[in-house]
Amino acid sequence: MAEPPETVDALVIGAGPAGLMAAEALAAAGRRVVVAEGKPSPARKLLMAGKSGLNLTRNEPLEAFLAHYGPVEERLRPILTAFGPEQVMDWAEGLGEQVFTGSTGRVFPRVMKASPLLRAWLLRLRQGGVEIRTRWLWTGWEEGAFAFDAPTGRRRISPRVTVLALGGASWARLGSDGAWAVWLAARGVPLAPFRPANAGLIVPWSPMMQRHHGAPLKGIALSAGALRSRGEVVISARGLEGGGLYSVVADVRDGAPLLMDLIPDMTQAQAADRLGAGRKGESLANRLRKALRLSPAAIALIQEFGRPLPTDPPALAMLLKHLPISHGGLRPLDEAISTAGGVRWEAVDADLMLRDLPGTYVAGEMLDWEAPTGGYLLTACFATGRHAGKAAAHWL
Ligand SMILES: Cc1cc2nc3c(=O)[nH]c(=O)nc-3n(C[C@H](O)[C@H](O)[C@H](O)COP(=O)(O)OP(=O)(O)OC[C@H]3O[C@@H](n4cnc5c(N)ncnc54)[C@H](O)[C@@H]3O)c2cc1C
Repeated sequence: MAEPPETVDALVIGAGPAGLMAAEALAAAGRRVVVAEGKPSPARKLLMAGKSGLNLTRNEPLEAFLAHYGPVEERLRPILTAFGPEQVMDWAEGLGEQVFTGSTGRVFPRVMKASPLLRAWLLRLRQGGVEIRTRWLWTGWEEGAFAFDAPTGRRRISPRVTVLALGGASWARLGSDGAWAVWLAARGVPLAPFRPANAGLIVPWSPMMQRHHGAPLKGIALSAGALRSRGEVVISARGLEGGGLYSVVADVRDGAPLLMDLIPDMTQAQAADRLGAGRKGESLANRLRKALRLSPAAIALIQEFGRPLPTDPPALAMLLKHLPISHGGLRPLDEAISTAGGVRWEAVDADLMLRDLPGTYVAGEMLDWEAPTGGYLLTACFATGRHAGKAAAHWL
């Protein structure tokens, strides 16, 4: 006969930012917490995020911050009001990591990396009694218990409360592969399909663009559907990527045309005047460089997408302000910085407890929300993890 499942007060599955925050809240309420993590070490995506500078949050007023969560702003309002940008900064400093605010309001640890913060956090969690079991891969439910592939073989746990914090469905090699969707769907939990968010665009470049691969386009503006952004985009071998683009991809994904403004600080009329004042016989590229200070990459881009290029200054100025970017769609889901889709909001109550599975909570990127990069992702993962952990402790 199979061994009876192990019983614990609280089980957290997934040791990413959301799961660790849930474990911290449960432990703070005096509960015995077991965290089960499928990978050999916790928070691999958080560590990866730190490779290019760990953007923890954004130092801006709460209302402006909340506006970045689009249709789920109101569901996240109480959660982010309790644990928003200010609290994230205090929390990081409480772990001994000094933070600073960059010129665009983005908040980073002074060391930029995630590893010192994670090390201090894991130590504090362990000292607080949290038991983190790595290589414990959840494989669904068996006879009502949570079943795992563990280093010691098949194991089952029957917790009094559970927080699921398994992440989205991108960068599967770091652990979040979205496999959980099948098991939740089988239990009747309504799910929205996974879609790439904060993803790059596929652009089949002409050979002429090859020498601009890797070049940044700084301070440009992009628009798609109702979304606008201002920032940097990088021309890569496979297309376009970067924060300026990620803020508008939600509407590109839904089919809206993408337009680029290469001279957002200038009106169309000002640009036309400057272009008209150029010397006769000057090449178009020289005119764009001298009159408008466009970089070689920006000039190449207008030549790539604007063919045949108008020579008439007003028409050229219009193209510079509204350059249509033709592309082959978004890069694949697994490459996306984050994913939209997952557990629908109607599936959870205000505590983030699954309505159909009392005592089971959901946090982090598993929930169906999306936001641009810039600290909004991590902050909402921390905040929903803490919220679910506190509510689970209360349920106990
Ligand atoms: C390259 C990159 C850079 C990023 N930079 C930033 C940034 O600067 N700022 C920002 O705000 N956001 C950034 N993000 C996004 C951010 O890292 C994620 O939104 C965040 O980590 C999601 O947290 P989570 O806890 O919900 O899920 P995850 O971090 O994905 O954690 C989920 C955990 O669950 C585990 N798991 C999954 N399935 C199972 C299973 N069946 N059994 C057991 N364990 C399982 C996984 O192994 C993983 O450890 C970046 C992402 C990437 C990929």
